[in-house]
Amino acid sequence: MKYYSLNHNAPKVSFEEAVIQGLATDRGLYFPEKITPLPAAFFDTIENKSNEEIAFQAIQQFVGNEIPETELQAIIKETLCFDFPVVEVEKGIYSLELFHGPTMAFKDVGARFMSRCLGYFNRNDKTSKNTVLVATSGDTGGAVASGFLGVKGVEVVILYPSGKVSDIQERQLTTLGQNIKALEIDGVFDDCQDMVKKAFLDESLKHHNLTSANSINIARWLPQMFYFFFAYKALKNQNKPLVFSCPSGNFGNICAGIIAKKMGLPITHFVASTNVNDTVPRFLTNGIYDPKPSIATISNAMDVGNPSNFIRIQEMYQNDLEHFKTDFSSYTFSDQATLEAMKSIYETNEYIAEPHGAVGYLGLKKELDNYPNAIGIFLETAHPIKFLDVVEPALNVKLPIPTQIESVLGKEKISTKIKTYEELKSFLG
Ligand SMILES: *Cc1c(COP(=O)(O)O)cnc(C)c1O
Repeated sequence: MKYYSLNHNAPKVSFEEAVIQGLATDRGLYFPEKITPLPAAFFDTIENKSNEEIAFQAIQQFVGNEIPETELQAIIKETLCFDFPVVEVEKGIYSLELFHGPTMAFKDVGARFMSRCLGYFNRNDKTSKNTVLVATSGDTGGAVASGFLGVKGVEVVILYPSGKVSDIQERQLTTLGQNIKALEIDGVFDDCQDMVKKAFLDESLKHHNLTSANSINIARWLPQMFYFFFAYKALKNQNKPLVFSCPSGNFGNICAGIIAKKMGLPITHFVASTNVNDTVPRFLTNGIYDPKPSIATISNAMDVGNPSNFIRIQEMYQNDLEHFKTDFSSYTFSDQATLEAMKSIYETNEYIAEPHGAVGYLGLKKELDNYPNAIGIFLETAHPIKFLDVVEPALNVKLPIPTQIESVLGKEKISTKIKTYEELKSFLG
C-alpha cells in the first residue's frame, strides 16, 4: 500500500516510511491510496470471528506485505489484550467502552499498534534509532508511555505542562523508566506543542529520526477502526441501523470509523460530538472552515481548535458538503450541559460516564431524533477515574481505584524540568 500526502507536494511512500516519518516532507498528512471494501462474507460471519481475526482482516490491506502475516497477527494480539464491551445504558443506547486497556484510555490501541510496528521495522538493530516526540495535555502521554515501553530501537520523549495534568496522568507518564523519558515544561500545553513542532522542522535534529505518536501518524490512527467492527459484531443480531457518536477532538477516531464504513461496515450515520471547541459544527452549519484557538473545558482531551484529522475526512468526501452531511453530523455542548448529562445518565441509568463520554451521549441523543428505528452507540473514550476531579463532585460518588491505576500510584516520579527549546535540544543531545 502506498500513502500520499494530502498537501500533494511530496513523493508517495510505503506504510513503513509513512509510520517512520509521521508527516510527509511537505507537512501534509498521509492518506492511503486505496480503500478496498471487505467481502460480504466477512460481515455475514463476523460474529464467528475473534477480535484478532477481525482486526487482522481490516488492517491488512493498509500494511500490505511490509509486515509478514504472522508478525502482523502477533502485533494485533498484543495490541488487543483487553476487552471492548458494548454496554446498554438505556433502551437503544449503548456505550462502547474503550477504556479497559493498560492506561484506561482508548489511545492504548493506537499506541500499542504503532509501537509494535516501529519495533518490527527496527528488528535488525539498525544503528539509527527512532525517537518518538510527543506533547500531551494528559491522556496521550500515558498511553504512549505504556504502549512504547521496552520497544526495541525506540526512545520516547514526552513533554507535558507542569502542574496542568492530573496526578494519575503524571504518574502514568513519569514512572515507567527504561526507554520512556518525561520532560516537565514550565508552561502550558501549547508551549509543549510548539516545542515539538519546532523540533520536527529542525534540521539539526534530523539524526534522531523524530516521529510523532499522535493520530496524524497512520499507525496510531488506522487501528482505531477496529472498535467500530467490534461494536457491529456485538449488535448485529438486532438488525437495526447503527448511529455512532464519537466525542471528538482531533477527529482521528471518527475518521477511522468513516474508513470502516468505506470498507463496507454498515454504519448509517456518524455524529462528531464536541465541547465548545466547535470548529467542525460551525463548518457544517455555514460551510466555512474557520479554526479558533482552543478553549479549556472539563472534557480537556477534546480541547482542540483546529482538528488535525478533519482534512482526511474531507478527502474521503471529496469536499462534497451535501454528501458529507447525509452521513455525518456534528454538535457542540457546553460544560454545563455535559455535567447535567453525567448526572442524568447516573441518576436514571446508574451508569457513570466521564465528561468525554457524556458529550458523546448528548450528540447521540440529539441525532437519534432523526433515526427513531436506529440503535445508538456512543464511544466512552476514558475510564471515569481518569477524570475523577470532575466525576466525583458532579455525581457525589467515590470511585474505586482500578488495579491498572493503583500500580502506578506508589511509583516514584522521574522527570526533567525544562523551560526553553534550547533545553529540549540539549536534552535530546
Ligand atoms: C484523545 C481523546 C478524545 C478525542 O479523540 P480524537 O480521535 O482526537 O477525536 C476523546 N476522549 C478522550 C478521553 C481522549 O483521550
